[in-house]
Amino acid sequence: MRPVIGLDQDLTRANTLGLPCVAEEVVDVFSRDQLASLIRQVGDRRLTLLSGGSNLILPDYLPGMTLRPRLDYWWVERCGQDALVHVGAGVNWHRLVMALASKGWWGIENLALIPGHCGAAPVQNIGAYGVELADVLESVTLVHRDSGAVESLPAGACGFGYRESRFKGEWDGKVIITDLTLRVSRHGAPKLGYGDLASRVGEAPAPLAVAEAVCQVRREKLPDPEQLGNAGSFFKNPVVEAARAGALRESYPGMPAYELEDGRVKLAAGWLIDQCGLKGWRQGHFGVHDRQALVLVHHGGGNATELLAFADQVSARVAERFGVTLEREPRLA
Ligand SMILES: Cc1cc2nc3c(=O)[nH]c(=O)nc-3n(C[C@H](O)[C@H](O)[C@H](O)COP(=O)(O)OP(=O)(O)OC[C@H]3O[C@@H](n4cnc5c(N)ncnc54)[C@H](O)[C@@H]3O)c2cc1C
Repeated sequence: MRPVIGLDQDLTRANTLGLPCVAEEVVDVFSRDQLASLIRQVGDRRLTLLSGGSNLILPDYLPGMTLRPRLDYWWVERCGQDALVHVGAGVNWHRLVMALASKGWWGIENLALIPGHCGAAPVQNIGAYGVELADVLESVTLVHRDSGAVESLPAGACGFGYRESRFKGEWDGKVIITDLTLRVSRHGAPKLGYGDLASRVGEAPAPLAVAEAVCQVRREKLPDPEQLGNAGSFFKNPVVEAARAGALRESYPGMPAYELEDGRVKLAAGWLIDQCGLKGWRQGHFGVHDRQALVLVHHGGGNATELLAFADQVSARVAERFGVTLEREPRLA
């Protein structure tokens, strides 16, 4: 299939927040070679990468080229009790999870129902229910923006951390991910330590049962972007020094806090927002979700500028009460 080019494209339905956006030029590419040769012709034009649009804040007008990698293929290479799964950037993440889990492969079942495409998964090292992409990622293949050169890198080179990677840091805007290789196994053990997952599955569950339980919990907790615009968690859980967490715990003994290996402490942004009385708060076109305070929702009719102003008010209230700074999770296009 040849690249598909559209001018003045409406992207309102191409982002899960449902923000209105018109893009000057949108190009869909279907293979790594197509992408590499296109990149060589783009020169210095502004380039935006758009996959599933579930972690992006789009402006009213997006100048330059918006590139959508549609590399939609995957296959499994058996290696004894393990397998390497080779996946194109355009594959829907949740469909991959369910396909592998239903075939009895362990590894990514806890990451079911995360929206978006595989190519964006390494950007913020997607994670949920105690599992992160970095736990199963073997390597990433990418195209360099400046030269069109193709390179494969081991996962260890990607600088993964909590919702972090070099793709968001020094490689931002410089590379386009085209393929991932994941390692899955026939001999995994279910990871049921988060929330009430364990009570939702029987004894010795198969990967599919775990994935289905995760979907069930997520459907109960999170708004469906098809019904109510959102980008999942709008803020990262803040990480603070142990002394700061200790002082907060004295004032708020019920505060959830998770000690990290480096001695710092991760707080629950949703709890902090909730404590400020903001759960369910609505102003204009935007609101804090009434079941999950970490999720900001778009009731329709708003735009990116209004959303950012609303989010600033939420983080200002948290900073005022707890002295903790919230960092935004979705990225600005
Ligand atoms: C309801 C809901 C629940 C969510 N739950 C979770 C969760 O539990 N855990 C979690 O981690 N995230 C969660 N998210 C956030 C989001 O789903 C993930 O970040 C996802 O990986 C984004 O994929 P996408 O294809 O939509 O990326 P997009 O939003 O299209 O892009 C995200 C970023 O990646 C860049 N990008 C996209 N494709 C490429 C590429 N091929 N190469 C390089 N850069 C690229 C974009 O330019 C942008 O900066 C949730 C979102 C929603 C709406």
